[in-house]
Amino acid sequence: MYKPDEALKQSIDQWIEANQNDFVRDLAKLVAIPSISVENDGPWPFGEECKNVLDKAAEIAGEYGFTVVNHEYHCGSCVVPGTGEHPKRIGMFAHLDVVPLGDGWQYPPLGCTLKDGFLIGRGVGDNKGPAICALYALRFLKEHKIELKNDVMIYFGLSEETGLKDIEYFCKTQQIPDLCLVTDTNFPICYGEKGLLRAELNLRTDGNLIDFHAGSVVNVIPSKAEVLLSDVSLEEVKRQLGDQEALTAEADGPHVRITATGISRHAAFPEGAVNAVQVLAAALSGTTLLQGSCADAVKGLAELTSDFYGAGADISFEDEASGKLTAVGSVVRMEAGNMKEADIISTVKNGIFVDTFTNGQVQIGAGDFTFFVKSGYLIEDGKLTQPIKDINIIGNGPKALADITMVADNDKIDNGTWTCGKDGQSCPVTCGMPSALVSKLTVGGES
Ligand SMILES: [Zn+2]
Repeated sequence: MYKPDEALKQSIDQWIEANQNDFVRDLAKLVAIPSISVENDGPWPFGEECKNVLDKAAEIAGEYGFTVVNHEYHCGSCVVPGTGEHPKRIGMFAHLDVVPLGDGWQYPPLGCTLKDGFLIGRGVGDNKGPAICALYALRFLKEHKIELKNDVMIYFGLSEETGLKDIEYFCKTQQIPDLCLVTDTNFPICYGEKGLLRAELNLRTDGNLIDFHAGSVVNVIPSKAEVLLSDVSLEEVKRQLGDQEALTAEADGPHVRITATGISRHAAFPEGAVNAVQVLAAALSGTTLLQGSCADAVKGLAELTSDFYGAGADISFEDEASGKLTAVGSVVRMEAGNMKEADIISTVKNGIFVDTFTNGQVQIGAGDFTFFVKSGYLIEDGKLTQPIKDINIIGNGPKALADITMVADNDKIDNGTWTCGKDGQSCPVTCGMPSALVSKLTVGGES
């Protein structure tokens, strides 16, 4: 049985004390890099910032005489060989990628602010601080000439927050340690983790909800949510919502934007959080500001997010080992485009379907446009009937965009090159869009 050596413990405490400023300085160098892991973004497997953060960690380790081996920017590792006859290997698994910065910071997210004994900054706790701790543990051993029988390895991951693809690569190409410590948890020991289910709910809606936008990652309760409404006045919105501190409403062109503020927390530890989605959805549900089926969708959202423990979805559960199930609605998006083109056509009583345009003219400043229809059809009672050609459609860009009421799932960019030009200058461009329904435009010069 291991007996802690009191003298050693004391010298560790003294050493930590003496090296505190260095620790914060080194950590700040990593925190300054917004190393959000992104795949397929440039020549590095997890993006340029993850490349930068690994380079920086290698530089810091190098200053203390350690070598970080770079595994093609999937991850890095630093091994201190053991002196025993058949050394085994102990791994300390840390990661240098972080979740997106998010909103509502009172201190700079890329800084490393010391406040009341706490360091504040993105990734200070998860997991750049522990990565530096692991490095400092090796530093301590080295400076005190303490040799270990077994190898010790620090692993610097770059894709922990996005699915551990870094570890997959490491396991395929490197020696897996015999025992691993994950530095990404709390003292004293964590030997289990809650299961995780990421569910995506898709709803088709219509009505005057133009946008609903909240959150950026599934495991963070969002502190901000926004909606954009059409066909309602700012006065009416303000009248119906009343004076609520967490809500602000403002005009945005012909629309009204409502923003809700909450308090962000990790989805697994929602105590003290206020979900901005819930604030906004619940406030809207108590009004008559929404028209059409979007009103039901928002009501459903309010119900689903009504607590953090799954009661709204009727899935609450708890057991002794893992405590309460937590369930949060974290990311909301309006995604135009899960309708089929035929679905859209079927909703039109009287209209035209335009297949191809030839040349057009645009008044850039005013946004007025004229396009010449090369081929298309009349739509009568939801069906394409007679072919049409040689007519113009005339409208105003910003207005026409606001009048789009449905968008299909067939987004496509033209693979030919077009030309945009003016006064003898020209520039190659491309263009493309999904099929969209515009509620009103001028056709052929007549309304
Ligand atoms: Zn982590």
